[in-house]
Amino acid sequence: MILMNDFKAEPPSLRAAMLAAARRVIESGWYVLGSEVSGFEKEWSALCGVGYGVGVGNGMDAIEIVLRALDIGRGDEVITTPMTAFATVLAIRRAGATPVLADIEPDTALLSLESARRCLSSKTKAVVLVHLYGQVRQMIAWQTFCQENGIALVEDCAQAHMATLQGKVAGGFGMAGAYSFYPTKNLGALGDAGMLVTNNQALAERSERLRNYGQSMRYHHTELGMNSRLDEIQAAMLGERLKFLPEFTERRQQIALAYRIGINNPLIDQLASPEELGAHVYHLYVINCKQRDLLQAKLQEKHIQTLIHYPICIHKQAPFHSIKRDPENLSMSERHAATCLSLPCHPQMSDAEVSRVIAAVNSFNSA
Ligand SMILES: *Cc1c(COP(=O)(O)O)cnc(C)c1O
Repeated sequence: MILMNDFKAEPPSLRAAMLAAARRVIESGWYVLGSEVSGFEKEWSALCGVGYGVGVGNGMDAIEIVLRALDIGRGDEVITTPMTAFATVLAIRRAGATPVLADIEPDTALLSLESARRCLSSKTKAVVLVHLYGQVRQMIAWQTFCQENGIALVEDCAQAHMATLQGKVAGGFGMAGAYSFYPTKNLGALGDAGMLVTNNQALAERSERLRNYGQSMRYHHTELGMNSRLDEIQAAMLGERLKFLPEFTERRQQIALAYRIGINNPLIDQLASPEELGAHVYHLYVINCKQRDLLQAKLQEKHIQTLIHYPICIHKQAPFHSIKRDPENLSMSERHAATCLSLPCHPQMSDAEVSRVIAAVNSFNSA
């Protein structure tokens, strides 16, 4: 079976490094918010090209904490996409704000600027821009849009570790970037983990309080925060796994290039190429097909696992049936949800496996 992720196939040297790091933490006797966390915060924020990193419990909390630290909450509107993980929109709601859904561009599945413009109101305070599938694109346009309208650009970087456009890294374009290190992300822990990165010192300091009950000094609580701290053991695992990230990312990009060149079937549509090679880190490699469900079944028969990101738009989920949205419609998102399919694209795939996927996709016919 060609899997979507295959952790057991990772290099033995990585496993050995993680075991040694786990031993180090266990023997340290310090398990939450310590030197492993602060070391990884420094390392990751520096790689993102920003001054501050605040380790938190997961990617969803990172978004909520950024919004709360920006004083965005009740009565405020935040524009985002219906083609994302549920966590993106749930985080906006958890912060107390009102999510507003704009449609996507059909050729990238990324948020549409024209649609976002139609979603603006006097209450709009931020855009949560999701770097979907691992791609940063059109960032100058988004920065300009947010500046002109006096709203914050918050980046959901959960799928875009180290995606780079014109020398800038995901998380460094806006007011803050929210990272998830869930195990299946391009950089993943051995459990839940997340971080927000920012160049804004006040935002970083307030986020550090919010992640720890709103505590400024031991037993001094200046506001009502949450419990969203990062564990030492997860930070230590992330530090070791980070050493492999450049190599793993390059492998994902090679596989993606092979798919882009190799997949050639009139029943399959490919998404647009990235603006630069490094601007897409291929957390997911997604194609579109009108007979998507049949294609998925045929690939399964050939022992190729696939997934769908995402089969149900946010506004089709029960808690969000009446969510505020683009006054025109969200038809591009709905079409994408009905036709998209994610192919295996993980760093442990062999060339032979990549060729098998290409051959299987190319031999698909709707008969
Ligand atoms: C995974 C993911 C999240 C949520 O991250 P968690 O660590 O699972 O909370 C948010 N947004 C996107 C786009 C994601 O892929």
